[in-house]
Amino acid sequence: MADYDVDVAIIGAGIAGIGIGAELARSRSVLVLEAEEQPGYHATGRSAAVYLKHYGNDTIRWLTARSEAFYLNPPAEVTETPLLSPRGELMITDGSDEDVFIRQVEGSALLREISPREALSLVPILRPEKVRRAAIENASDIDVHALHQGWIKVMRKRGGTLLCNARVSKLTREGNRWLIESPAGVVSAAVVVNAAGAWADKVAAMAGLDPIGLTPCRRSMAVLPAPEGYDVSRWPVFGPARELWYCKAEAGTLYVSPAEEDPMEPHDAYPDDMVLAEGLDRFEQAVTIRVTRIERSWAGLRTFARDRTPVIGFDPAAEGFFWLAGQGGYGIQTSPAASRLASAIILGEKAAGDDERTVRAQLDPARFR
Ligand SMILES: Cc1cc2nc3c(=O)[nH]c(=O)nc-3n(C[C@H](O)[C@H](O)[C@H](O)COP(=O)(O)OP(=O)(O)OC[C@H]3O[C@@H](n4cnc5c(N)ncnc54)[C@H](O)[C@@H]3O)c2cc1C
Repeated sequence: MADYDVDVAIIGAGIAGIGIGAELARSRSVLVLEAEEQPGYHATGRSAAVYLKHYGNDTIRWLTARSEAFYLNPPAEVTETPLLSPRGELMITDGSDEDVFIRQVEGSALLREISPREALSLVPILRPEKVRRAAIENASDIDVHALHQGWIKVMRKRGGTLLCNARVSKLTREGNRWLIESPAGVVSAAVVVNAAGAWADKVAAMAGLDPIGLTPCRRSMAVLPAPEGYDVSRWPVFGPARELWYCKAEAGTLYVSPAEEDPMEPHDAYPDDMVLAEGLDRFEQAVTIRVTRIERSWAGLRTFARDRTPVIGFDPAAEGFFWLAGQGGYGIQTSPAASRLASAIILGEKAAGDDERTVRAQLDPARFR
């Protein structure tokens, strides 16, 4: 006997699970199961919170562009707080990665090349000899907390349920329903959405499915005191064209990431001291300040499919099993469009046009089956 009977059960209360939960709750009964006490505890709560239009492959860019209107003008019922705060993204090259720099600038109309002198005036701690060429894009900071909490609020208002401390341990098919077992109770649902982030392949295995081949990759962040004598509040995010580190000024501190992408098993990620030290060394070589103290640090898992494109759609191998995973390093900025698209597929709505049809095919888990 099930404790809950719903149209759609969603596993994972990160930005992906909550986004689609809020969207589907308009017309379906939904319930989200989250393993942790705190929704957003894993990747969602650990991101750099940047919205960058030229980031990722074409499918990612499509989703990011389709999310922009929502970000610029979020529905008041979700949040009254502006979700985007403009800031630039400055890409530099010292010559060693000029090929990457050229490819990026030529591949994006959004990136505008500026003179090294302009770059140095934007971020005065850069070493002049490390800035042979530079380009800038209009990036923004995302208020991830406001979005995530806003979607939780809206989902509940629309009748949806969020169960925390509800780690799913078993998924079985009974007739045309899924039975989902967790310490918070047994849920019966017509559709199950796998939004379990780094654990998505493990969740699929519980349902007797082969893995898609998702790889969780660790990325860390060190928080440094801002250098004295500089107003860092207007600095763009900056880093080299080959992502060997990047730096973002935040509330009187500098966040510096070694930009690593180390594959690992899903777990509660934490930084590796050596990886942090090496990343900070690369940062130090490009700037005129010394790293004297790390105030704190953290790490999270960015989970990629083999083609670095998210996996969104029904699994052809199991009726009613829907994937919403593999968002990599773009899961926040793409979440409004990804939630809407995923919801439309579940509701059986037709693609809005040729480009959406193409994108649906690129996201379809069937490409791995
Ligand atoms: C350092 C770093 C910087 C980043 N910077 C950016 C950025 O600037 N911009 C951007 O757009 N993206 C960024 N990202 C990526 C972004 O954070 C992710 O793509 C996004 O958060 C993924 O969301 P999610 O909901 O899929 O995963 P998660 O937030 O990890 O949520 C998955 C949830 O599933 C739950 N779960 C797992 N197994 C079970 C189970 N068996 N039962 C119940 N629940 C379960 C987990 O507890 C977890 O809460 C960054 C990531 C990192 C780590």
